[in-house]
Amino acid sequence: MASVRVAVRVAPENTKTFTYDFSYDSTDRQSSAFTSQEKVFEDLGSDVLKAAFDGYNACVFAYGQTGSGKSYTMMGAPGDAGLIPRICEGLFSRISNSSRCDEASFRTEVRSEPIYNERVRDLLRRKSTQTYNLRVREHPKDGPYVEDLSKHLVLNYSDVEELMEAGNINRTTASTGMNDVSSRSHAIFTINFTQAKFDAEMPSETISKIHLVDLAGSERADATGATGVRLKEGGNINKSLVTLGNVISALGQESPLKKKSAFVPYRDSVLTWLLKDSLGGNSKTIMIATISPADVNYGETLSTLRYANRAKNIINKPTVNED
Ligand code: ADP
Ligand code: MG
Repeated sequence: MASVRVAVRVAPENTKTFTYDFSYDSTDRQSSAFTSQEKVFEDLGSDVLKAAFDGYNACVFAYGQTGSGKSYTMMGAPGDAGLIPRICEGLFSRISNSSRCDEASFRTEVRSEPIYNERVRDLLRRKSTQTYNLRVREHPKDGPYVEDLSKHLVLNYSDVEELMEAGNINRTTASTGMNDVSSRSHAIFTINFTQAKFDAEMPSETISKIHLVDLAGSERADATGATGVRLKEGGNINKSLVTLGNVISALGQESPLKKKSAFVPYRDSVLTWLLKDSLGGNSKTIMIATISPADVNYGETLSTLRYANRAKNIINKPTVNED
């Protein structure tokens, strides 16, 4: 089920009503309605962990215009951790509390594959051989993957923190008219979580992929005064966001009761191709829409809310990834 994080309301004279699974106000820290990062993790992050431990794939993506709080929601601010660090921390705390430790073993690998201009990079590779323009391929059973993408075995949360610190140094940021450090790439952080069960009669392995995605700003390129190369980037960013919207619409038309599946255009953008097995199918998908309180952003806010509305129609089918 889609879940949407909505930060504020629009001005009364422009009121339109939308309904989502969750809505969160974070305009005023003093207000009783203020929602903490912890609460967002309790509502959404714990569902992701539950899905992974139950053997499902999961995907959380933050959608909204630049400056509306996507990175704050996903990564957090100093001293105010967002969903990604909390999910990683929660994963290891669940592993260490697991009563199944005797009969199951866990393996956690992380990757980070930002997409910029329809090209995939490797954010976490330490020694730079080729770290950008990596190819996406699809394995008949294991699904889409990025060729040559480095994967990192992590044994505890501080291993993850260390990798994230190294990854931050590699991140490309450039300024646009809207925000001086705006992320124009889709940041993808992927966790591959493997559970092996040592049943003498039937040993089995379950792999769950968790994709945590901080999408590029959803504003139209022309709204930011972009020209030339920037405008082209805007076009590509938009292409993957438009395709993501189309994928969401197609998935929304599917029903577990229908025999024939609708055509879902996953391969029309690198972003949707990579997220294929975490959108629809057997996965837990959470969309977080972030919006701005400013009147001047009314148009973008409305388009974000409409985009989020489409995600509500997706009904995923429960099938565990067991071998
Ligand atoms: P985006 O990634 O969508 O461009 P950011 O997450 O960078 O936007 O948010 C812009 C600024 O607003 C940052 O300084 C961020 O810390 C702050 N911010 C965003 N959302 C919130 C929130 N819900 N509560 C407190 N501060 C926020
Ligand atoms: Mg950002």
